[in-house]
Amino acid sequence: MTNKVGFVSLGCPKALVDSERIITQLRAEGYELVSSYEDAGVVVINTCGFIDAAVKESLDTIKEAMAANGKVIVTGCLGAKAEVIREACPDVLHISGAHAYEEVVRAVHQHLPPPADPFSQLVPAQGIKLTPRHYAYLKISEGCNHKCSFCIIPSMRGKLQSYSMPQLLTEAGKLKEAGVQELLVISQDTSAYGLDTRYQQVNWQGKEIQTRFYDLCEQLGELGIWVRLHYVYPYPHVDDVIPLMAEGKILPYLDIPLQHASPALLKAMKRPANSENTLARIQKWRQICPDITLRSTFIVGFPGETEDDFEQLLEFLQEAQLDRVGCFQYSPVNGAAANALANPVPDEIKEERFHRFMQTQAAISAERLRKKIGRTETVLVDEVREEHIIARSKADAPEIDGLVILPPAQGIEAGMMLDVSITDSDAYDLYAEYQDVLASGAFSSDE
Ligand code: SF4
Repeated sequence: MTNKVGFVSLGCPKALVDSERIITQLRAEGYELVSSYEDAGVVVINTCGFIDAAVKESLDTIKEAMAANGKVIVTGCLGAKAEVIREACPDVLHISGAHAYEEVVRAVHQHLPPPADPFSQLVPAQGIKLTPRHYAYLKISEGCNHKCSFCIIPSMRGKLQSYSMPQLLTEAGKLKEAGVQELLVISQDTSAYGLDTRYQQVNWQGKEIQTRFYDLCEQLGELGIWVRLHYVYPYPHVDDVIPLMAEGKILPYLDIPLQHASPALLKAMKRPANSENTLARIQKWRQICPDITLRSTFIVGFPGETEDDFEQLLEFLQEAQLDRVGCFQYSPVNGAAANALANPVPDEIKEERFHRFMQTQAAISAERLRKKIGRTETVLVDEVREEHIIARSKADAPEIDGLVILPPAQGIEAGMMLDVSITDSDAYDLYAEYQDVLASGAFSSDE
């Protein structure tokens, strides 16, 4: 059991990146990772505390680890509510909040001293990744300066803190060298990157660049791999990166959570409250980059949402014709300002609106995917199964978007990039036949 650490990572991709950093450090110091509680000398649990269901999952996991092992260190978003954890499990060894890498590592040292002779050569240059080898998350900042009334992330993760450009570009370069073909740029607010540094000017490989969203996208675009932007807040300066998408520097894909379309609701949410401007901007983006894929998320059943507000949202969906859309029924988050708002929406109305929303969007999505039949798409293979091959096009982010499903074929491996012909579609996925292999020296299905 000496030097063996159990690690459980819960929550969003941002928490996953925190886990990767802690694990990388522990491995560099010679700790071994094990997958069972019983074999571990200590268990680290990186928790999520965003919504009630995530809090429950985190607490259940802590209780399970306490019962099976008894030496448990808790970190992550739920760590900001240490009293909730202590109430459920008074004997956890240590509690820290989100992105407290050094504190977690110190707590591990205290309860399971590091090996005398670290074997740091076992840690790859790009660090330990919990994603498949061909894609990786690049977390560009911590925290958030907004005050969306339904969200407690700023109170859990603090104000915006951007990582430096040289640090991010070095990390991105190492990931590429290690075989990563797709970088998923994440943060709480990707388009705010650099604001906290006052867009500090830095020297990168002999060039003067600024610590800002556009410069970061431009530099990542030089890597020649897929670069996908997530969690982009709809600031006007987001428009500036659309030409980089049209030029093929970064993927023509924008994940831009809009949350609602009714001005009254957007105001109550403390979000930018002008959906007409948003529609005009979407049109402009499509003029500049006709292939752009737009993903967004929305909340239905927010306190005070009337039938009229909801109808405005459905109309917006029809007009915006977004490609990928996620929808959440509003659920009060402990500590969020929105809890104090009047006129909560009854659960059965939330449920009914959720289904109407999803039906509306499913029809839009099906129609947009149907138009791709007959087209050639470049796809990245995620998984080879006996019955079929699972891949994704430029329009599909892992875990949250659709798939491109291909027939089984010899010689295809995860991480290959292929040209395929789209033959069929349904509400969310595409079906395709092989055309040619672009990279990785593989061959097509009939070879
Ligand atoms: S921008 Fe995102 S992280 Fe920031 S407060 Fe709003 S919902 Fe929360």
